[in-house]
Amino acid sequence: MPVTTHVKFGLFLAETPADLSAAALIGAKGTVQLAELPAVTASSVFAAVDANATAPLHLAEEHGSAPASVTVWATHDDKLIPVAFSQFAKETSRHMAIVRTDSVRDVANKVVPAKGNALLVVRVESAAQAYAAGLAVARNWPLYSRKTGAESSERTVYVDFVVADESAVDYDELNAVAAAIRDVQRRVDTPCSELNTVTYVEEVHALVERLDDPTVSIKVIQGEELKEQGFGGIYGVGKAAEFPPALVILSRVPENADKTLALVGKGIVYDSGGLSLKPTSGMVGMKGDMGGSAAVLGAFEAIVATKAAPEMAVHALLCLAENAIDGKSFKNDDILHMYSGKTVEINNTDAEGRLVLADGVAYATQHLNPDVVIDMATLTGAQLITTGIIHAGIVTDSEEVETTILKSGKATGDLVFPMLYAPEILKSQFDSPVADMKNSVKDRMNAQSSCAAHFVQAHLAKDYKGAWLHVDIAGPAEAASRGTGFGAALLYEFAKQF
Ligand SMILES: [Zn+2]
Repeated sequence: MPVTTHVKFGLFLAETPADLSAAALIGAKGTVQLAELPAVTASSVFAAVDANATAPLHLAEEHGSAPASVTVWATHDDKLIPVAFSQFAKETSRHMAIVRTDSVRDVANKVVPAKGNALLVVRVESAAQAYAAGLAVARNWPLYSRKTGAESSERTVYVDFVVADESAVDYDELNAVAAAIRDVQRRVDTPCSELNTVTYVEEVHALVERLDDPTVSIKVIQGEELKEQGFGGIYGVGKAAEFPPALVILSRVPENADKTLALVGKGIVYDSGGLSLKPTSGMVGMKGDMGGSAAVLGAFEAIVATKAAPEMAVHALLCLAENAIDGKSFKNDDILHMYSGKTVEINNTDAEGRLVLADGVAYATQHLNPDVVIDMATLTGAQLITTGIIHAGIVTDSEEVETTILKSGKATGDLVFPMLYAPEILKSQFDSPVADMKNSVKDRMNAQSSCAAHFVQAHLAKDYKGAWLHVDIAGPAEAASRGTGFGAALLYEFAKQF
């Protein structure tokens, strides 16, 4: 039975919601001690719980067998409900977030039942930790489902924090960014039969209407218009599909803007590999190859909703295409004429993401005058080998941008780690006898994730003076065949910090 979960952050310890079916308290190892938490025991749900209920969690040293969680039953609103206590990992080393977001997410998922309204209280050390932990919790209940069966139902998970500086927790911001993350998850989980290049554009239009902000505008270049205007990459990749490719340019330009950020996302709504067809095992899950565009859209949504970075113009460019097979498919040996003016000889139609991104960054740097352009994509399988399944791999020409994006990752739990930046030694990987470059590397054992990044970089406008950052999210965009919502909070935070 499909249960739609709403997630709400707020002061729910003080004002306990009615009709709860469960409650839970989690915190870092050693911090879930009811007797020391008057703010919790004073609330109506936990008041009925014996203060010693959490003691078993802390008996490891003495008895060597502390349970992972403890559940007791308490009467709330004349109803007996389970109240669970559990602990998440405490260790956070240099390249991890300010709180163990991976463990927070897992533990929250275990203590909150699958149905019914629940109150989840998270004990953390600071408002900054509350933010990262909250965003981790929100990823647990993806919205997309087409399961049938008994009637569908809705429920709410209410989340509050026990934290010394509770007044510093911005619940409105948490709700807005969490909602954007969950929208990213939904879009990534939606198959191409529902989210194609046309319905995706419709969804963006609907979002613009919902945001209802006079500083926001949208421009769509679609189908044959792309060809006429010289977008050889996006048009070439998408021309064989049932639905036409599109470049969507969303802009929020405040009157007093003094900085400009351009975000460019890969939006391959399905990647069959094209004529360089993927084997079935590599093709399953390729509905998620639009994860970069979904993250860019999610970041834009959160920035507009919270009016973040109020003096920054923000552009979100979604490069939408389906890499399909048909008589019109682009072929290996074809030469594409890109928006940058450069020519690309195709030697692998499955290396299509960089082609659509190249047109996106070319447009952004030729027309939008950004201080920073960021492209984000589920681009290379090699990213997982380079930085793993939790950290995205980044490549940038700016040390300042690298520092800021690393910080943004640690603050949000959308973690990143730098990959090699060395265009002078890697660009020969794309040498072509007949065009300016090929689209796939000669040697797959030579930093190919960085090579893919440098391919995109080669299409920045010649006179572009700003910084460039590439984020490869092939690993962290999905976990256990569901979208994680990776990237929206990262880019949102970057916009605030830059
Ligand atoms: Zn591909």
